[in-house]
Amino acid sequence: MLCGERLAPAQLLIGNGQCQACCEYPPNFDRAVSYGEYEAGLRQLIHLLKYERVLPAAKPLGMLLAHSVDDLRLCAAKAHPVLVPVPLHSSKRRERRFNQAELIARAALKSLPRGFELAAHVLVRKRETRSQVGLDREARIQNMHGAFRVTAPERIAGRTLIVVDDVMTTGTTVSECARVLKGAGAAKVFAATVARTLKRAGAQGFSQEAQGEEVEAWQFASV
Ligand SMILES: [Zn+2]
Repeated sequence: MLCGERLAPAQLLIGNGQCQACCEYPPNFDRAVSYGEYEAGLRQLIHLLKYERVLPAAKPLGMLLAHSVDDLRLCAAKAHPVLVPVPLHSSKRRERRFNQAELIARAALKSLPRGFELAAHVLVRKRETRSQVGLDREARIQNMHGAFRVTAPERIAGRTLIVVDDVMTTGTTVSECARVLKGAGAAKVFAATVARTLKRAGAQGFSQEAQGEEVEAWQFASV
């Protein structure tokens, strides 16, 4: 499994173990892991941090993220993997006053074995991206293209990186981060998020809830 999406039984039986999206638009990351589905308690905890600014919520979220990083089975002592939080655009960061991905990555570092590092400012978001709501995958890829820039290539050249974010929906954002990081010389780029939205069995596209989520996030950002 590449992106961690739920596979239909037929895909598991006859496919290459990849979802349709990964076959059509291969992501730039080597593999993506998440702790759990974006619902119930996990969703509440992320909301608490992101929208209600309850910063201590980063601690349990970091512990959960560390669990999913474990699933990558990286030999930290040898590889010295570097956590790279997905950056916010400077205007968004000023408005929220913190980057939730960075807080989660910092907290995760405390639960991870020695050997892991954090590079919080090696990647910057150089332009604001418009809301991804209602965009199909191809449009999302276009929308994100060129949104990020590496500030210090010497910090990541030849390294194993883990792009960290709170939630992954289609993976377009972390994939664009991975593309830019590899372009700057990273050897391997994984993605780890606390939660991810999964397709409902038999449903086309993402659930209404997941779509609504981004509307909500956008509204929060604009007040
Ligand atoms: Zn996939």
